[in-house]
Amino acid sequence: MIVRKSPAEVELMAKAGKVVAELHQVLREVVRPGVSTQHLDEVAEREVRSRGGIPSFKGYRGFPATLCTSVNDQIVHGIPSPDVVLREGDLIKIDAGAIVDGYHGDSAVTWIVGGEDTVAPEVRDLVERTRQGLWAGLEAAAKGRRLSDISAAVEAVATPHGYGVVREYVGHGIGRALHEDPHVPNFGRPGRGPKLVPGLVLAVEPMFNLGTADTRTLADDWTVVTQDGSLSSHWEHTVAITDDGPWVLTARDDEPAWPLAMRAAG
Ligand code: MG
Ligand code: MG
Repeated sequence: MIVRKSPAEVELMAKAGKVVAELHQVLREVVRPGVSTQHLDEVAEREVRSRGGIPSFKGYRGFPATLCTSVNDQIVHGIPSPDVVLREGDLIKIDAGAIVDGYHGDSAVTWIVGGEDTVAPEVRDLVERTRQGLWAGLEAAAKGRRLSDISAAVEAVATPHGYGVVREYVGHGIGRALHEDPHVPNFGRPGRGPKLVPGLVLAVEPMFNLGTADTRTLADDWTVVTQDGSLSSHWEHTVAITDDGPWVLTARDDEPAWPLAMRAAG
């Protein structure tokens, strides 16, 4: 069942989104060679709680941490650990969620540890194109379109480059629950599925792999990796469909919260 949110609820969700956005801005400055993913998690929990939020993931189906931290061939759901120390050239995917006033925000980033110059151009391109796939999906999250228009827009960014588009993990509705209907796949033909109506709030989250789309789960029962060991990138934002266009509730300071309005304004 798809739960539409009232304008007042969307405003509340924007508060949760802002906490997640600010958290990512803080963490971006903390990510560097020599830092453990456990340290990132400690910073994250402090930052979320200091803003009046509750970590969404901690305790969710038994997940033990505030962040999912997934390195290199790990796609999603990596568990922070003092033993995972970031090195120059690593891809660190940080996925974070926060609950504020009962509503969730959910957003993920891929940072290149030590900066873009520490990796091969094909790795830099994977990260950048996955980010572009996210924004293509967000711009398609417009009133009057259909759900699979988002999926098709994301996939269209990956296809020319031959990336594996992960199929087993997809985006989702979000609200009082972290995961609500509908599923938001990152692949598929356009023009299908439910009509996008104001009050629908979605987490759009492409995962592109340098190799095949296939995944497997490690023995910790959480960490999802590429089956062929290839590198993976993951970006995610929470977006509300509104009468005024897509509103990216988790947009950071350097990103457009209203991407279509920005585009229209040139
Ligand atoms: Mg997430
Ligand atoms: Mg999500």
